[in-house]
Amino acid sequence: CGIVGYIGYRDAYPIIIKGLHRLEYRGYDSAGIALLDTDLKVYKKAGKVSDLENFVKDIPMAGSMGMGHTRWATHGAPSDRNSHPHSSGDRKLTIIHNGIIENYGIIKETLLAKGHVFKSDTDTEVLIHLVEDIIQETGLDLREAVRAALNKVIGAYAIVIMSADEPDLLIAARKGSPMVIGVGKGEYFIASDATPIVEYTKNVIYLNDNEIAFVHRDSLLVKNIDNTVQTPYIQELDLKL
Ligand code: GLU
Repeated sequence: CGIVGYIGYRDAYPIIIKGLHRLEYRGYDSAGIALLDTDLKVYKKAGKVSDLENFVKDIPMAGSMGMGHTRWATHGAPSDRNSHPHSSGDRKLTIIHNGIIENYGIIKETLLAKGHVFKSDTDTEVLIHLVEDIIQETGLDLREAVRAALNKVIGAYAIVIMSADEPDLLIAARKGSPMVIGVGKGEYFIASDATPIVEYTKNVIYLNDNEIAFVHRDSLLVKNIDNTVQTPYIQELDLKL
C-alpha cells in the first residue's frame, strides 16, 4: 500500500502514476487518484496501477496538484467503490489513507444518525465525513477541522486530504505509518517512502507521528495535532535508484 502526492507547477498525473508504480513492491489490491484542476476529479479501480492507467487513458488528466493511492484492504472487500480516494457527501473533500481507523464504527453510527450517506464499507470514508461534519457544525476552517478530526480518531494512519475549495493546499498527516515530504522549488512531493521523490529532489522531511503538514506550492507549515508549530528538519537523501 502506498501514497503519493504532488503540488507544484508541473502536471501532477505522470508524477503520481510513476510514484505509485515505484511503491508497487509494498503490495496492494486497488489504486486511485484525485486531481484538482478547475474541479476535483477522482478515478479509482480495483486491480493494478496499470488497470487504473488503462481506465483513464482517454481522459485528459489535467491538474498541477493531486494524490494517488494503492490500497491494501482492511475494512471492506477490494472493489472499485472501496478503493481510495474517498469523498465527503458534497464531494468537495477527498482523502487517501493507509492504515486503520480503529474507532470508525462508533463515529460512523453518530454520522449516520446525523444523515451522512456512505458510499463504501471502509474505515477511511468515516474520517472524511467526520471532517465535513466538524466544518458544518463548528464553522472551523479545513485545516483546523482536520486537526480536530484527527484528535477524535484512534488508530494508525498516513493520510492526504485535498479540497475543491483549496487549490493551493494538500494536508498530510501521519501516526504509525510512514510519510515523507520532498521539498522542491515551488513544488512539494509527498510519499510513503522516498522512492517516488528521489528523482525530483534530494531534500526531504520525514514527518513524525502526530504531525500534520499543510503543504502549499511555495511554503510548508508543520504542526503537531495539539496545535504546536513544529520546525521541520530537512535532510539530504543519498539514495540512488
Ligand atoms: N483501512 C483502509 C481500507 O481498508 C486503508 C487500507 C490501506 O492501508 O491501504 O481501505
